[in-house]
Amino acid sequence: MTVFACASCGQVLSGDLRRLAGTPAHAGPDRSTVPPGCYAIDPEPFGAPFATRAFPEERPARRRAGAAPRQAPVSAGKRGTVVVHPHDAPSLRAHPDAARSSGCCGPCGSFGPNMTCGCGVALATLVADCHGPYELRLDPVRVYAFDAVTGRPETLA
Ligand SMILES: [Zn+2]
Repeated sequence: MTVFACASCGQVLSGDLRRLAGTPAHAGPDRSTVPPGCYAIDPEPFGAPFATRAFPEERPARRRAGAAPRQAPVSAGKRGTVVVHPHDAPSLRAHPDAARSSGCCGPCGSFGPNMTCGCGVALATLVADCHGPYELRLDPVRVYAFDAVTGRPETLA
């Protein structure tokens, strides 16, 4: 079992969490990607910054008409973010830059880390909008993991 802490000040951020095998699929609005007491490591890029890619299904008629290809945003953010239940890191605070928590009914998580440690380091992204997943993503560079029993550091690979 694993506990997460701020890499800058050492503040313990989570309870004792159990790692899930793989990364669960988005469970739908209002349903957490991971259950309470668990975490997962997402090997895919997450969040800001974003790059663009052409829509693969671009219609030939549109191309023939000389229209610019449509672009879709794709994350170029960090790989290996730690996905936890939003209630499992209760000491985090909302980032003072409210624009980072923009969204419809809640933060969509696309504007960079929107949660900070008590020391002020922005190290997590709360995703809680009505049209996306419900999860908290810990920055794999700004947090570290250790075994709750032995205190030994754990690798997040
Ligand atoms: Zn800290």
